Amino acid sequence: MFTDRTASPVSNLAIRILSEVGNNMDYVAAVVSLKPTGGIPGDISADEMDRVADLADRYSFGEIRVSHEQSLVLPHVRQDQLHELWLGLVEAGLATGNIGLVTDIIACPGMDYCSLATARSIPVAQRIAERFADPERQREIGPLDLNISGCINACGHHHVGHIGLLGVDKSGEEVYQITLGGASDDTASIGTIIGPAVSSENVVDAIDAIVGAYIARRDDGERFIDTYRRLGAAPFKEAVYGAH
Ligand code: SF4
Repeated sequence: MFTDRTASPVSNLAIRILSEVGNNMDYVAAVVSLKPTGGIPGDISADEMDRVADLADRYSFGEIRVSHEQSLVLPHVRQDQLHELWLGLVEAGLATGNIGLVTDIIACPGMDYCSLATARSIPVAQRIAERFADPERQREIGPLDLNISGCINACGHHHVGHIGLLGVDKSGEEVYQITLGGASDDTASIGTIIGPAVSSENVVDAIDAIVGAYIARRDDGERFIDTYRRLGAAPFKEAVYGAH
């Protein structure tokens, strides 16, 4: 989220250009984040949805898609209208500039809404997003997929998050198993559990410690997932379990 959204250019990821559509370089698919800091990942009100529908009518041939990343895609936007679209999103309060960053968390409904859950997901996502709310810090960290599931059914796809959290019940206590190294892009991989589950109280600190270990060890321009693949789990385990 940008402190002064009206000053944020399109390049600040309020809208991410997915790809040119077909061979027509004049049109792009644009992603609209539904991950405001402190909000519920993927939630949008009826009024906000009406605003997006109006914008889709104006800029995307009336088409909106919902992504598995819990955001919206306007699939046919003229490049020269991207800025106007962004201004419309600013007006609608939907221009959070965090696509692909640490606060763009995928979280299942978890125990707040799902009868199968063994732990909460949404409040954990909110606490992590609040910890990393500073947009400068988010951009400094760079691309990072963080996914949370509230039970082994894995609706939050935690196993393919660069960082994954799986909420489990341990003798009546909600604890979180951490996986690292998952990916759902064209280098797909399943994350590896790095050690014992951490308590709800400590889970945000654990994520912070993992990110800190990455920042301390990354090469210039190296994404989190690439640092993890180069170094393996050891420095991240040390960061988490040395602290707890
Ligand atoms: S992962 Fe579990 S808790 Fe989350 S939505 Fe799926 S079934 Fe429910």
